[in-house]
Amino acid sequence: MSASHLPPFPARDYDFREYVAARNWIAGGWREAATDHHDVVTNPRHGQVIGTVPMSGEVDVDAAVSAAAAAFPAWRDTPMKERVQVLYRVKALIERDLEELSWLVSHENGKTYEEGKASVLKGIECLEMGISIPNMAGGPQLDVSRGIKCEVSYEPIGVCAGVSPFNFPFMVPLWMLPQALVAGNTFVLKPSEKVPYGAMKLAALFHEAGLPAGVLNVVHGGQAAVEGLVDHPKVKAIGFVGSTRVARLVYSRGAAHGKRMLCLGGAKNHLIVAPDADLELTSTTVAASAFGCAGQRCMAAAVMVAVGDTQALVDATAEQARKWVLGKDLGAIISKESVERITRYIDEAERMGAKVLVDGRGATVEGAEGGFWFGPTVLDHVTPEMPAGCEEVFGPVLSIIRAKTIDEAIAIENASPYGNAASIFTQSGGIARYVMERVSAGMCGVNVGVPVPREPFAFGGWNDSKFGHGDITGWDGFRFWTRPRKVTTRWAQQKDMTWMS
Ligand code: NAD
Repeated sequence: MSASHLPPFPARDYDFREYVAARNWIAGGWREAATDHHDVVTNPRHGQVIGTVPMSGEVDVDAAVSAAAAAFPAWRDTPMKERVQVLYRVKALIERDLEELSWLVSHENGKTYEEGKASVLKGIECLEMGISIPNMAGGPQLDVSRGIKCEVSYEPIGVCAGVSPFNFPFMVPLWMLPQALVAGNTFVLKPSEKVPYGAMKLAALFHEAGLPAGVLNVVHGGQAAVEGLVDHPKVKAIGFVGSTRVARLVYSRGAAHGKRMLCLGGAKNHLIVAPDADLELTSTTVAASAFGCAGQRCMAAAVMVAVGDTQALVDATAEQARKWVLGKDLGAIISKESVERITRYIDEAERMGAKVLVDGRGATVEGAEGGFWFGPTVLDHVTPEMPAGCEEVFGPVLSIIRAKTIDEAIAIENASPYGNAASIFTQSGGIARYVMERVSAGMCGVNVGVPVPREPFAFGGWNDSKFGHGDITGWDGFRFWTRPRKVTTRWAQQKDMTWMS
C-alpha cells in the first residue's frame, strides 16, 4: 500500500460495511505486517466480520520503533511553535471528517452515532489542550545567587509509545498524542486489536496535516506487540489505558526496565445518593452515567449507594432505565464473550439475593439480531460481597447498594480497590463537601454522573485505577512526556561571590 492510501470508511448509517484489511503505519506508509497471525474485526452491532487486523510481533514493533527513532532528531530540533502547527491542521481535518469519524467509531466499537460523535469531539478538545501547550511550556528562570541564573526547559524523552483500549478508539489516542508530539517526541501507537481503524484514520490525518514520516507510527496487535514495545530498549516512556489486570502487568514490566510508565486501569465508580437529592436531576443523571456507551466507560456509574430513605430516587432511576431504547440510546457490547460475562454477573447477583428491577438479559434490536446486545439493567439490594457489587462489570448495569448513613456509604466506596470516579447527589453543600473530602477517587462529582475533568483539568484516577504518577491529559500529560533540564549559568567572575555562587 502506498503512503497516500487512505482506508475507505464510507459509512453514513448503521448498515453493515466491509472495510480494508488493517495495516500498520510505519515511516509514513502502510506496511504489511511480518506476522502470519491475523485476527478478525467484528462490528458489534451486526455481529459480522468487517475486516482483519495483523497481530504484530517483535519484527513489526522493531520496524515501527526504528522509524520513530530515525525521525526523532529532526522532530526534536523543530521548534515547538512549528511542531504545533501540525496539530492545528489535524483539528481542522477532524472537523472536516467529523461525520465519517463518528460513524467509524460506531462501526468498529458499537456505540451509537451520537456517542461516537461525542467521543470525537472530546478528542478535539484534547487536541486543543495540546495546541495550547506552547503558550505554557516556557520554563521558569531565576537569579538564584549573585551572577548565577538557573532555568528549566522541558525536553522530549525520545521514542514514546501508547497503548489504547477498545472503548474509545479515537479519543484515547488523543489523550496522549498531542502532548507527546508537541513536546518533540516521536511515537508508536498500539490500538486495541478490536478497533484498529480509528488509529489508522488518525495516522492518515496527521500525515495529511504534514507530520513528517516516522514521527507517528501505528502497530496493530495484542499482548505480543505491547510486550515488544515495553521491552524495546529504544522506547523510553509508555502510556497505557485498559483494564486493571493488564495495566498492572504492563506497568510492572516497564518499571522493571526502568522506564517511565503511566498505566490507567479499570474502575468501579460509586454514586452516593442522599435522601435530599433532586429527584429528576439525580434519576436522569445516574441512568445516563450507567447506560450511556452501554456502560463501557471507565467513568460509568457502576454502583448507586442509596442512603437512608431514598426509595423514591431508586424507583425514579429504575423508571429512567426503562426509557432507554437499545440500539438508539445505547449501542452494542463489544463482543459475544462480553455479553456472556455481563449475564453471569446478573445471574450470580440474583442467585445471591439481589432483586432485578430492570432486566437487560437477552434483549436484542430488531433488524440487528446478530449483534451483541445487553439492555439497561438495574439490580437492587446488591451487597459489596457480590461480584456485581465489587468487580468491574463493564456493561449497562447499575447495582444499587443500600446504606443507612453517609458514613456507611463512604466506607463502602472506600473499600473498593478502584478509585477512578465517585459522586455525591445532594442539595446540601455540607454533605457534598463532607463526601468530597472522604471518597477515595481521583475524579469526583457533585450532582454529576460522569465527572470527567474537562480540559485543561487532567484525567486520571487513584488506587488500582492508575499505576504511575501524575495524570494522562492536561499539563500533567505534557510533564509525563517530557524531562526537565535544569541549567545553571554564570557569565562573569563576581567580586561579591558567596559560597552559594
Ligand atoms: P484490555 O486491558 O483488555 O486491553 C487494553 C490494551 O492492552 C489493548 O490494546 C490490548 O491489546 C492490550 N493487551 C491485552 N492484554 C494484554 C496483555 N496481557 N499484555 C499486554 N497488553 C495487553 O482493556 P479493554 O478491554 O480493551 O478496555 C476496557 C478496559 O479499559 C476497562 O477495564 C476500562 O475500565 C478500561 N479503561 C480505563 C480507562 C481509564 O482512563 N482508566 C479508560 C478507558 C478504558
